[in-house]
Amino acid sequence: MMTKRNLAGESTSLLGFGCMRLPVGKDGKIDRPAAQKMVDEAMKSGINYYDTAYMYHNGESESFMGEALVARYPRDSFYLATKLPVMMIESAEQARSIFEEQLARLQTDHFDFYLLHALNRHTFRERVIPFGLIEMCEEWQRQGKIRHLGFSFHDDFDTFREIITYRKWDFCQIQYNYMDTENQAGRRGVDLAESLGVPLIVMEPIRGGSLVRFPDEIKADFSRLDPTRNLANWALSWVGTHVQVKVILSGMSTMTQLRDNLRTMSNFRPLSPVQMQGVADIVGRIRARVRNACTGCRYCMPCPAGVDIPRAFALSNEEAMHGHTATYKKRYLSADPSKLASACVSCRACISKCPQHIPIPGDLVRVRGLFEK
Ligand code: SF4
Ligand code: SF4
Repeated sequence: MMTKRNLAGESTSLLGFGCMRLPVGKDGKIDRPAAQKMVDEAMKSGINYYDTAYMYHNGESESFMGEALVARYPRDSFYLATKLPVMMIESAEQARSIFEEQLARLQTDHFDFYLLHALNRHTFRERVIPFGLIEMCEEWQRQGKIRHLGFSFHDDFDTFREIITYRKWDFCQIQYNYMDTENQAGRRGVDLAESLGVPLIVMEPIRGGSLVRFPDEIKADFSRLDPTRNLANWALSWVGTHVQVKVILSGMSTMTQLRDNLRTMSNFRPLSPVQMQGVADIVGRIRARVRNACTGCRYCMPCPAGVDIPRAFALSNEEAMHGHTATYKKRYLSADPSKLASACVSCRACISKCPQHIPIPGDLVRVRGLFEK
């Protein structure tokens, strides 16, 4: 039976259905028959929280969910969540028009959960506040068009504190997993939300799939802790062991992923304190594999030659932690060549700007050897 928790007074499934990575066909559009089967399987299995957004699948996710979920199932048999694309809002009028478009796409007269999408310090200070987006959402809430108002978040802890303490939010959504405890909102953000009584929805519990990609020795470490759990189970179970997390979103692309997640989240088994410590120990060993201590702070940017230094180090470090060199090489080479390590002219202008004292030009030579040879 699907595990349920109490999110803002609603009995929501611990596993939420994220609609940002639905199966797609060769044309890049949603493979509607395959995605419909997944929605039907999710409904049958007790998932009652569905999370889409204006931007997902270039706008197609909302209209698909309108057809696949809202038009086919009783409106009170699921919770529907979508998000205002704050990053593209240029005026209050545009926000109103997008909101009406979302209601039409999703074939509904209300959203159960509505989020200001992907807030960071810039979108919050330069769009949410000046365009009066919170007041606008509060008006929609009074009109019954929104039942619960929250935000999703991608920035650092100080910005998280600024936003979560700005008003009494009904809920908030953060990226959290056993590798992201010290960045993004992080562990301090989880504790702050709990102290303020703001329930949490967690996205990226498997960190874009990277937590199921590890070299054999790390896989063996997990297996020694409990051989009955696979890597996806460890990642989801670690998040679910936090009782302040009410919904864990997984953006699933295949029926196999959905069924695997259902196995973990039905009759959910939290990790024991010994297992939580075991995961912390493994995380220490994973982190020890990185090639340098780049935190992605971007103080070294811009590089006069155009190199995207933090991106090069992030991908190199991901490769060191997870293996799968071909995957990270492909991602690395997808950028404009002017941003790659080979564009570095060794001017040394960046070195004194790095708080981690990374010998940047030398480390870029190693990245070049790894991904550009
Ligand atoms: S040393 Fe290389 S990476 Fe650093 S600023 Fe100069 S060109 Fe850019
Ligand atoms: S300043 Fe240093 S730590 Fe910060 S992004 Fe640049 S290389 Fe990484």
